[in-house]
Amino acid sequence: MKDKQKNKNKLYYTILAIVAVICIAVIIGVLLFANNNNENKNEKEIAYTDLIKKIENNEVEEIEMTVGSTTAKVKLKNEEEEKQVILPSTQAFIELIQEKTQDGNEFKLIQNPTNVLVKISETLLSLLPTILILVLFILLFKMQGLGDKGKIYDSEKSENTHTTFEDVAGLDEEKNELIEIVDFLKEPKKFQEMGAKIPRGILLCGKPGTGKTLIAKAIAGEAKVPFISMSGSEFIEMFAGLGASRVRKLFEKAKKIAPCIIFIDEIDAIGARRTNASGAESENNQTLNQLLVEMDGFETNETVIVLAATNRPEMLDKALLRPGRFDRQITIATPDAKGREEILKIHGKDKKFASNIDLKEIANDTAGFTGAELANVLNEAAIIATIKKHKKIEEEDLEDAVKKVTVGLEKHSRVISDKDKRLTAYHEAGHAIVSKFLETQQDVKEVSIIPRGLAGGYTMYKTNEDKYYISKTEMEEKLIALLGGRAAEKIALNDISTGASNDIEVATKIAQDMVTVYGMSDNIGPIYLKQKDPYEPQVFGENIDDAIGLEVKKLIDNAYKKAQEIILAHMDKLQAVAERLLEKEIISAEEFETFF
Ligand code: ADP
Ligand code: ZN
Repeated sequence: MKDKQKNKNKLYYTILAIVAVICIAVIIGVLLFANNNNENKNEKEIAYTDLIKKIENNEVEEIEMTVGSTTAKVKLKNEEEEKQVILPSTQAFIELIQEKTQDGNEFKLIQNPTNVLVKISETLLSLLPTILILVLFILLFKMQGLGDKGKIYDSEKSENTHTTFEDVAGLDEEKNELIEIVDFLKEPKKFQEMGAKIPRGILLCGKPGTGKTLIAKAIAGEAKVPFISMSGSEFIEMFAGLGASRVRKLFEKAKKIAPCIIFIDEIDAIGARRTNASGAESENNQTLNQLLVEMDGFETNETVIVLAATNRPEMLDKALLRPGRFDRQITIATPDAKGREEILKIHGKDKKFASNIDLKEIANDTAGFTGAELANVLNEAAIIATIKKHKKIEEEDLEDAVKKVTVGLEKHSRVISDKDKRLTAYHEAGHAIVSKFLETQQDVKEVSIIPRGLAGGYTMYKTNEDKYYISKTEMEEKLIALLGGRAAEKIALNDISTGASNDIEVATKIAQDMVTVYGMSDNIGPIYLKQKDPYEPQVFGENIDDAIGLEVKKLIDNAYKKAQEIILAHMDKLQAVAERLLEKEIISAEEFETFF
């Protein structure tokens, strides 16, 4: 979102600059033209044909011409005032005059050398299109960040952050691991004298929103050193060779203001494995090579720490992870219940809650949420409470906010046909009924056919305490629950819809992981098969893909069959729940239980 805005601004300024240049060019052009033509603006003009007649009639006393100019001054015998004439062609006019003088017409012809000013303006005018094109080119190059120092520094932010470890909730172990970096930045001499080697580069791995940037900023804030940040994707959006020069300049600047922290977000954008390819790929290689050179090029007394963030450490070129480069990895996991509660506390500090609100409860209800999502929930809750004119944030505001962050905003305005509503009702009732009869699946919290975000309806489950391991049975049953929606549509309405596409996508991914990551398939067994590195020799031949496909299909087929069996066995319940949904649009956990 932010990046889009930035690009928009960039485009906007470029267009503005181009328009400005064109305007200036036109103004200059007009001025020059005017200067050229109206040298004697207040003189009266005489038509060319009249002048010829007057020459023939011997009425002309004097003609004054300037080389290179298309105007001439004419003095008539019987008039005091000089007149001006515009000549269609100076060459032809001179020939004509020679002819006339031979014919016996007498008058004085003065030929002035070229007016320097006129000459310059004319040259300029003729060069104008070229200049304009040049300016446009320069602008275009600048837009790409070429050769302009200011531009390069613009996109990388250097700031003095006031973020401290106190602003980072949870992540105690990670903070402990990073505290030595803070000490080092504060008192590098102490470490150097001891001969201690401090890691240069630290890789922070974790999902977006888990607080990687936050913790990097906190290190800078704790050590009271500047924080220079740049995003990997910014390096690659540029012309050939620029990525590398940007990396060089980034490090140059860091060394100048050391001690400091460099933070490279999305390092996978530049740090992805090098290839033999040309074009965009080889450009990427150059950028990465430069980064490696810079990481190796630090002097021991330079106190610059490079922190980089990625969600896909396995994508990174191995060279990046070698000693002296990003040789330390810290994984930032999504917070557990305790961590979530602490994050909620930090972001709830300046918000007014109704007295019955227990942040611990919300923490329990939001398993899997990242720090950013939790912060978002509280902010949304505050907005909802304001709109609803509540004095404080109430429980329903928080519940709405959680839903908004997970499934999107309710869409009351969308007009839904009865047929679609029916389909959604049976689909969601299908999920709910099927999970009800699955041992390992969580209890239903809410079923709704009110559209939210992209979904026509949703079934929400209660979350239990955080789990670190998931059993095979649980995963199989998850597949069944996911396919319960499609199974219900098929059996109850004898038709299937596109509404199940997300369920199918999620189910397929789970099944794939079961086979290739968790070794849960009978025919392949416990072998890690997820393609990590297409450039390294593969252990298995190409046929392994077919075998994986067959196993995934078997898992999905079985799950779909089971889902249909459950629906068939409980058709009466499915109908009852679906009809109630059509009537009320939303069913709570308690109401759902009354059907059983
Ligand atoms: P990442 O860099 O991992 O994508 P950010 O550091 O940008 O994530 O986190 C986004 C926002 O989420 C932070 O600005 C902060 O408001 C909130 N946040 C994330 N993790 C935490 C945390 N552990 N404690 C407090 N706030 C957090
Ligand atoms: Zn569904």
